[in-house]
Amino acid sequence: MSTLLPNFLAGRWQAGDGPGAPLFDPVSGAELARVSSAGLDLAAACEYARHEGGTALRALTYRERAGLLAAIADVLKANRDRYFDIALANSGTTHRDSAVDIDGAIFTLGQYARWGTELGDARWLPDGEAVPLAKDGSFRSQHVSVPVRGLALFINAFNFPAWGLWEKAAPALLSGVPVVAKPATATAWLAQAMVADVIAAGVLPPGALSIACGSARGLLDALQPFDVVSFTGSADTAAAIRAHDAVVRRSVRVNVEADSLNSALLLPDAPPGSPAFDLLIDEVVREMTVKSGQKCTAIRRIFVPAAHYADAGRAISARLAQITVGDPRNDAVRMGSLVSRAQWESVRAGIAQLRRHAEVLHDGEATPLVDADPSVSACIGPTLLGAPDASAGAVHEIEVFGPVATLLPYRDLDDATRQVRLGQGSLVTSIYTGDDALAARVALELADAHGRLHVVTPAVGATHSGHGNVMPMSLHGGPGRAGGGEELGGLRALQFYHRRTAIQGAGSVLDGLGAGGP
Ligand code: NAP
Repeated sequence: MSTLLPNFLAGRWQAGDGPGAPLFDPVSGAELARVSSAGLDLAAACEYARHEGGTALRALTYRERAGLLAAIADVLKANRDRYFDIALANSGTTHRDSAVDIDGAIFTLGQYARWGTELGDARWLPDGEAVPLAKDGSFRSQHVSVPVRGLALFINAFNFPAWGLWEKAAPALLSGVPVVAKPATATAWLAQAMVADVIAAGVLPPGALSIACGSARGLLDALQPFDVVSFTGSADTAAAIRAHDAVVRRSVRVNVEADSLNSALLLPDAPPGSPAFDLLIDEVVREMTVKSGQKCTAIRRIFVPAAHYADAGRAISARLAQITVGDPRNDAVRMGSLVSRAQWESVRAGIAQLRRHAEVLHDGEATPLVDADPSVSACIGPTLLGAPDASAGAVHEIEVFGPVATLLPYRDLDDATRQVRLGQGSLVTSIYTGDDALAARVALELADAHGRLHVVTPAVGATHSGHGNVMPMSLHGGPGRAGGGEELGGLRALQFYHRRTAIQGAGSVLDGLGAGGP
C-alpha cells in the first residue's frame, strides 16, 4: 500500500485512522499515496489554530504579516520543481498547465505581500471617516474593520490544489486569521507537500497554518461563531455547507465559489477574418484545452452572430484537431489528462447529455491518445458542440467540467445578452469586438450577472491577461449559480476576514483608537 500522507493539526503531524482514500496517477491509474482524516480530534485542532495561531498573527501588524507571505512565497519558489513533479503525477497536467496552478499561487502570495506592506504597521482598517451623531459634533461614529478572532477553514476543489489554497490563505494570513486547509482528496498531495515545506521552514507562528487531508467529515462541526469558511467546489456540496448548523445556527460566515457556465461573446461588428474574430478563436481554444478545461472560469458557451455560426465552428474545430492529447510526460502532448477516472466518466456522461440537444462539431472522444491507455487513463480530447436552433436549454444548465464547449448563434445583441444571462450568474464572460464603445455598453449590460467582464479588442490582443486567468487584482467569484462569492480583487479580499464595527464616542475617545491602515 502507498504512503499515508500525514495531517498537520494542533501543531504536529498526525496520521488519520484506517487505510485512507487512495490518490492516483490519472494517466496510468497507479496509486500514489493515501489520505485519511478519520479519528482526528478536529475540535482540538481548530481550538489550537484559533488560540495559538490567531493570537500570534494578531500580535503582528499588516506589514509584518506581509513579510510572512513573502517568506511563504520564497519557500514555495525554492521547492517549485518538486511541485511540478507532483502535479504531473497526480493531476496529469502538462508543465504549462501546472504552472497556472503553481506559479499562479506564488504570484498571488507575492502580490498580497506587496499590498500588505503598503498597509504599514497598523492592526485594523478604518472604514470611512468619523461622522457626527450629536448636533455639536461632540459625539461621533467611526466604523472600523478588525480581524475576526476565529479561524478560516478552506474547503477546496480538486482542480487547483496549489493556487486554490494560497489565493485564499494570502488574504487570510495578511488579515491575521489562522488557516485550516482541507484540499480535495483527489489532488491533496500537492497542497500537503506545500504546507509541509512551509511548516518545515518555520516561517509561520505555531497554529497559523494547518491541513487536514481526506474527508471533510467533522470539520464543520468544529466551527465556532467567529470562524469563517471559504468553499470552492460543486453547487451540491455548497448547499450542504450552507445548511450546516455552524452556518445556520452559529452564523459562521461562508464564501462560496461554485460552478459556472462562462461565456465568450463575439459582437456583431467582428466578422470572420477580422482581428476580434481571430482573438475569439484563440481564446476559446486556449480555454477549452488549458488544464483539460477543468477551470471554473473556462469558456463553456460561445455566442456568435447567426451569420458566423458555421465559420466559427469550422475555425475552432480546425484548431482543436491539432491538439495532441495523452500522457504529459511526452513532450508532443499539448493537453494532459482529466484529474481522475471518475471525472472522465462524469465528463463523458455530460457530453452524452448535451449531445441530445446539440450537434457535434468536433468529437473529442474520437481523438487518439498519445502514450495513454483509453481503458485506464482519464484522457479525453476536446469536444465542440453546436446548438444552431439556440433553444437548447440544457447547454445553459449543464456544466461539463472538462474540455467541452458549445457554440450558440444569436439573432441580435438583445438575444445575445438574454442568452448569456441564461447561465444564471457566471464567473466571467469575455467580449470580442473592434468597437470600444459597444464593448463598454455590453459589459455594463452584463455586469450584474458576472464577477468579471473581460473585454478583448485588437489593441490589447497581445497584452490581455486571458479570459480564464484569475488575477489577484480583479474580483473572483460570481452571483447566482456561480455561488455568490467574492475573492481576490486586491485588498477588498481582506474584508471577508475582518468584522466591521461602529465605535461611537467623543472625538477624544476616537482619537485614542490610533491609526489604522491607510
Ligand atoms: P466537490 O465535490 O464539491 O468537492 C469540493 C470540496 O468539498 C472537496 O474538498 C471535497 O472533499 C469537499 N466536500 C465534499 N463533500 C463535502 C461535504 N459534505 N461537506 C464539506 N466538504 C465536502 O467539487 P469538486 O468536484 O472537487 O470540484 C469541481 C467543481 O468545483 C466544479 O463544479 C467547478 O465549477 C467548481 N469550481 C469552482 C471554482 C470557483 O472558483 N468558482 C474553482 C474550481 C472549481 P473530497 O474531495 O474529500 O470529497
